[in-house]
Amino acid sequence: MTGNPWEQALEQLEQAARIMNLDPNVHEVLRHPKRTLEVAVPVRMEDGSVHTFTGYRVHHNTSRGPSKGGIRYHPDVTLAEVKALAMWMTWKCAVVGIPYGGAKGGVVVDPKTLTIKELEHLTRRYASEILPLIGPERDIPAPDVGTDEQIMAWIMDTYSMNQGYSVPGVVTGKPLSIGGSAGRSASTARGVMYMTVATLKHLAMPVDEARIAVQGYGKVGAPAVELLAEQGCRIIGVSDHMGGVYNDRGLSPVGLAAHYTEAGTVAGFEGGNPITNEELLALDCDVLIPAALESQLTEDNADRVQARIVVEAANGPTTPEADEILHDRKIEIVPDILANAGGVAVSYFEWVQDLQAYFWTEDEVNARLRRVMEESYIAVLELAQDRKVTMRQAATILGVSRVAEAHTTRGLFP
Ligand code: NAD
Repeated sequence: MTGNPWEQALEQLEQAARIMNLDPNVHEVLRHPKRTLEVAVPVRMEDGSVHTFTGYRVHHNTSRGPSKGGIRYHPDVTLAEVKALAMWMTWKCAVVGIPYGGAKGGVVVDPKTLTIKELEHLTRRYASEILPLIGPERDIPAPDVGTDEQIMAWIMDTYSMNQGYSVPGVVTGKPLSIGGSAGRSASTARGVMYMTVATLKHLAMPVDEARIAVQGYGKVGAPAVELLAEQGCRIIGVSDHMGGVYNDRGLSPVGLAAHYTEAGTVAGFEGGNPITNEELLALDCDVLIPAALESQLTEDNADRVQARIVVEAANGPTTPEADEILHDRKIEIVPDILANAGGVAVSYFEWVQDLQAYFWTEDEVNARLRRVMEESYIAVLELAQDRKVTMRQAATILGVSRVAEAHTTRGLFP
């Protein structure tokens, strides 16, 4: 099962269904994505040749509202991965009480190998191929691994050109100039910070000087380093796909950011010693924050994790086998569908602002985000304590039960 995120997602649903005695007929509906679209994306490359990329968009469930989910550009994108990420989005939106279902999209491509022109053409063609599935009342994409604000802007423009008028609410994570929200770019990381602080406090561990290791220094990892350092935490290790850096006395977040801007990687930062990704995951620290890709903590390395707390900023970073090992070792896990829900929460705020054409200040956004995250943390923690289950099982049970209730209330069509 290790390495297949769809099997992993189904296993998590299975476990939650067993514990909560989920109606088998509802379970049957939730096991299947509602819609799966595979598209060919032909792009004329700068050398004049045409290359056809493969793209996907999956809607897992829309019982609670339009579907929502990021778009990933990565060479390892598979349909199994996109389906898993769509299912996790369904539970995540329900856990934090946002009126959306779950979706996800992806293109099998390494965006770093494309020129800007090729990237724009790929994005616009992919957007037009998935056009029948997306829309502000239907399905609202957002950035994920390998995609950014500019890519969202091209998707918004492609959709708007087809409609004949501007439709900012079709995507979130847009630049501010075209209807983005204040606070969106750091929102996932800010949520991760709130969840880290809440867990440290719950375990009566001091926030100040808490020793933290972060895997991944992208849209989530980089602002997480900054925000946790602002709370007084000590960032002792950071890594990305090129390598990592370690300093037990703490890495300077400002120095690290400056090095990254110059080098495009945290590897080689002179404020610490080099370490590999494997070493980073096994660092002696209080909190480990995987913020890169799925299946990073597996049965092969889970017994080497020394952190007291794992806060899953990435989606699906822990395989079910590793989950069990970490649980047996009494390592506290804040599951992805809670830990990284800050991104979708502020995406929801962005969509609400777009639909009303009325924009909030960053302080308003951050205050609302904080409330959503802290209330959701307490709801999951209380459920975990009441039912004597893990935080992951509690979050999944909470998400699944809210989706199941919406599905049952609406009834099965026809
Ligand atoms: P990103 O592309 O901006 O950054 C990914 C980071 O992971 C990069 O630093 C990259 O170098 C690193 N990385 C890739 N492969 C690695 C490896 N093998 N070892 C170590 N590092 C590696 O992506 P992102 O948006 O920051 O997303 C990171 C994770 O967070 C993903 O799992 C994503 O689904 C999840 N997530 C993102 C958001 C969001 O708002 N962007 C929201 C919720 C969840």
